Amino acid sequence: MVANEEQWDYSPEKGPEHWKDLSQDFAQASQYPYQSPISLVHEKTSKFEKQLELHYQVADFYEKEIFPTTHLVPANRTNFILLEDGPFYLTDIHFHKPSEHLIDHLQEDIEFHFVHQNEKQEVVVLGVLFHLNDDKTQFYNKMTEKDWDLSEKKHTFDPGSFFSDQAHFFQYLGSLTTPPTNGPVQWFVFDGVGEMSRKFLTNFHLHVKQNARPLQALNQRNICWGNLSN
Ligand SMILES: [Zn+2]
Repeated sequence: MVANEEQWDYSPEKGPEHWKDLSQDFAQASQYPYQSPISLVHEKTSKFEKQLELHYQVADFYEKEIFPTTHLVPANRTNFILLEDGPFYLTDIHFHKPSEHLIDHLQEDIEFHFVHQNEKQEVVVLGVLFHLNDDKTQFYNKMTEKDWDLSEKKHTFDPGSFFSDQAHFFQYLGSLTTPPTNGPVQWFVFDGVGEMSRKFLTNFHLHVKQNARPLQALNQRNICWGNLSN
């Protein structure tokens, strides 16, 4: 991943406009026509008829700095989501500032990505957006100080905490938003915008420069809207 850090970034020279020119892998991935992120608008959706269930519970996560953001990597495979074609296991949590997806034309302060994979290496990402504020009681109070071991960079928490205010999502087919931007990736982006204390980020070293890929062409993709099953 160190090679990547030197290879690409979000600058005018090696940023998103140039990713496809930086390596053969990136060039090939850019050929996938359904790139992410995209603009999501409620009026332009059809109904998502299938089920999405979150099976999240308290688990251990290791904090790792992998360019361009901080990642929370689960210690084992106890967390998963359930789709019609079976379970997809949580493999990584990371975030982008500002949000990559726009909901009803609005960009938010931060977007967390929950990356999942099944046995066939198919990828499903859940996106959830937050507005950052200075109110320590917002979101931060869902975690306790003892959830976070800052010296060991090992944290114990329920990833479901990030979704406690969510009931509906957009679903569409897209790509990874960092190089190589290959697809298909099935996206579920939740449409409620949560409130998060800035202190949650600063306390846990989750500092990052701007790392949002610009919006990509829709290319006549179908966007669905659905309800979270419990
Ligand atoms: Zn991401």
